[in-house]
Amino acid sequence: MSTLTITNPATGATIRTVPADTPDDVTAKVARARAAQPAWRRRSLDERIGIIRAFREIIERDKATLAALTTSEVGKPLGQSKNELNGLLGRIDFFLAESAKTLAPEQVFSEGTMVEVIDHEPLGVVANISAWNYPYFVGSNVFVPALIAGNTVLYKPSEFATLTGLALADALHEAGVPKDVFIPVVGGGEIGAALTSQPVDGVFFTGSYATGKKIADAAGKSMTRVQLELGGKDPVYVADDVDAAAAAAATADGAFYNTGQSCCAVERIYVHDAIYDQFVDAFVREVGGFVVGDPTDEKTYIGPLTRAAQLAVLDEQIADAKKRGAKVAAGGQRLDRPGNYFAPTVLLNVDHSMAVMREESFGPVIGIQRVKDDAEAASLMNDTQYGLTAGVYTKDRARAEKLLRDVDAGSAYWNCCDRVSPRLPWSGRGHSGLGLTLSRYGILAFTKPKAWHLRSPG
Ligand code: NAD
Repeated sequence: MSTLTITNPATGATIRTVPADTPDDVTAKVARARAAQPAWRRRSLDERIGIIRAFREIIERDKATLAALTTSEVGKPLGQSKNELNGLLGRIDFFLAESAKTLAPEQVFSEGTMVEVIDHEPLGVVANISAWNYPYFVGSNVFVPALIAGNTVLYKPSEFATLTGLALADALHEAGVPKDVFIPVVGGGEIGAALTSQPVDGVFFTGSYATGKKIADAAGKSMTRVQLELGGKDPVYVADDVDAAAAAAATADGAFYNTGQSCCAVERIYVHDAIYDQFVDAFVREVGGFVVGDPTDEKTYIGPLTRAAQLAVLDEQIADAKKRGAKVAAGGQRLDRPGNYFAPTVLLNVDHSMAVMREESFGPVIGIQRVKDDAEAASLMNDTQYGLTAGVYTKDRARAEKLLRDVDAGSAYWNCCDRVSPRLPWSGRGHSGLGLTLSRYGILAFTKPKAWHLRSPG
C-alpha cells in the first residue's frame, strides 16, 4: 500500500502517515465520479445549494479544530488559520447568495414564435489540484461552485495540506454530498499527474508556474478545459504623497502575512525617492516587531515555512542579491532552531538584475527599490513575466488609476494589497495563470453554455 507521511514544519516531527492513492486507485475514483455525475446533476439547484449551506454550518461548528489541524501540518500561525476559516465562511456566503441567479437560464431574445435562451450545464467530472498555502480558500474557490453547478469533483489537496483536505472531504460528506460526488485523491505530484492523465472534463489547478505549465501541456494534448491559478511577483509602488509609516505598516503586512507564502503577497516594493528613507526606516522597524515562533501560539505572526525545500531558494536569492550589491537591512538567514524557520528579511539597494526582484520568493523576504517617479515605477512593475496583482499607495485616486491601468495584472489595488474578494474575479496574466475563479464569472467557469433556439409551433 502506498502511504504519505505528514510532517510538522515547525518541529520536523512526523504527525501521521496516511494511506495514499496509486495511479490505479485514481483511475477507479475517476470512474466512480463519472458514474455519479448524472444523478448529482439531476438534483435541483436548490438542493445542491442547501447541501453547501449545511457544509458551511459544519465549518462554522468545527472552526477551532480545523484551524489547529491546518496549523499542525502547514505551520500557518494559528490566528491566521482562524482568519482563513472566517474568510472561507464569507466566500461560501457569496456562492450561496449568487449561484441561483447566475446559473438561471437567461432568455436573450423573443420575437414572434422564436425564443433564444442561454442555459448553463455542468462540465461533468472536474479535477481540482490544489496548493497548501491557503488550503481552504484555493480548494473552495473551485469545489464549492463546481458542486453547486452539478459537477462531480476529484479533489487532490497538496501533499503539504492533506489532513486539511481530508477534513474538508469529511465535512462535505457529512453535509450530504455523496461520497462519489466529491472524492479526495491523496498523494504527491505523481498522483496529480495521474489525475490529469484521466479523461476528465476540466482541470482546475492552483500552484506554481512550473507545475501549471506541465498541466497545461497535458490538457492541451487531450483538449481538456484547463484553468491555472499560479504564482506572482506582485509589486507595490509607494508614491511621495503618503504617510510613510502607515504605508510601511500596510505593505510589510502584505509582504510577510502567512510568512510571505501568499500568491498575492507583496514581493517587491518601489518607493518614491522623496520618502524612501522615511519609508525604509518605518518598514524595518515594523518588521523588527514581528513575533516569530511557534505557530500554535496565538501571538505568533511569522511561523515556519511549510516546505523545507524553500529555505534553499531563499538562501540562493539572498546570496545572489548580496553578490550584486544588495544590503541586508533585516534578517538574511535561516533561524537556528528546529523547523523550517527563516528570519524576516529586508533587502535594500536592489535592482532587477537580482533574482529576488524577478522570481517568486514565496517566503519572508522582500526587496525595496528607490525610484525617481511614477513612470519609472510603472516600467519596473511591468518588468516581470507574472501578472497577478499590483498596488499603488498615494492620496490621489486618479494618479493610482492612471498607473495601474498601464500595469498588466489581474487585480489592481489602491491603498491596499494582498487582498482577495469573492465578489471580484481572481485571475492572473502571463505566468500567473489562465482563466479565473471567484465572482459570478467564477461560478460560470464550472459550466458550459447551451444555446437554445426555440420556435413554438404557430
Ligand atoms: P506546486 O506546483 O508544487 O503544487 C501544487 C499541486 O500540484 C500539489 O497538489 C502537487 O501535488 C501537484 N503537482 C505537482 N506536480 C504535478 C504534476 N506534474 N501534475 C499534476 N499535479 C502536480 O505548488 P505549491 O507549492 O503547492 O503552491 C505554491 C504555488 O502556488 C506558488 O507559486 C503560489 O504563488 C501559487 N498559488 C497561486 C494562487 C493563485 O490563486 N494564483 C493561490 C495559492 C498559491
